Amino acid sequence: MILYAATSNPGKLRDFATAAAAHNITVLPLPGLQTIPAPPEDEPTFAGNARAKALYYSQHAPGLLVLADDSGLEVDSLDGAPGVRSARYADDQHFPSAPASTTDERNNACLLRALDGAPPNCRRARYRCVLAVARDGHVTHTAEGAVEGELLTAPRGTGGFGYDPLFFIPELQQTMAEISLETKHDLSHRGRAFRALLAQLAR
Ligand code: IMP
Repeated sequence: MILYAATSNPGKLRDFATAAAAHNITVLPLPGLQTIPAPPEDEPTFAGNARAKALYYSQHAPGLLVLADDSGLEVDSLDGAPGVRSARYADDQHFPSAPASTTDERNNACLLRALDGAPPNCRRARYRCVLAVARDGHVTHTAEGAVEGELLTAPRGTGGFGYDPLFFIPELQQTMAEISLETKHDLSHRGRAFRALLAQLAR
């Protein structure tokens, strides 16, 4: 089975490639993704955005099984923010842009500012991921996964992407940016969602 991933995020593509290898299926980037105008991502939930993306891209790829992901970080003491706005958090907060800083670095700096002075018991967070598969304009499957963690006061590790250097997993005593891709697949929101999706696809 081949799933065509409708994402150009290299971190997500790496996670999917690891997931696919562990389960003997193939995940390929959706052909021509760069030439298709991006759809709006303005639904209030991860599920809404994942379904909308899968639907939209499947209409541009007749006959293919299109896989879309919407995911993000929820911080309890920020009432679930940045949530569905995780990729655009710093922009939404008008956080200043340092020279040569990447979007991920800026989002992380913005999050640290929002949590400045917060005690350890106010730093609980989770990653959530919803996956949707669609073919020819119909959503055929959805699945979700989550992983709990705590946000550090400074980044640690060079792997992963997004908020991974701040996302500390108590069971491992490591951040998501310090673990291997295989370990990330075992316990991450995306890995869990992917396994739940495969269980459905196998039925
Ligand atoms: P979107 O799903 O493309 O709207 O963006 C999700 C955003 O959530 C990413 O740009 C990251 O900021 C964050 N995010 C989602 N999953 C992960 C992950 O596995 N590691 C780190 N950050 C993530």
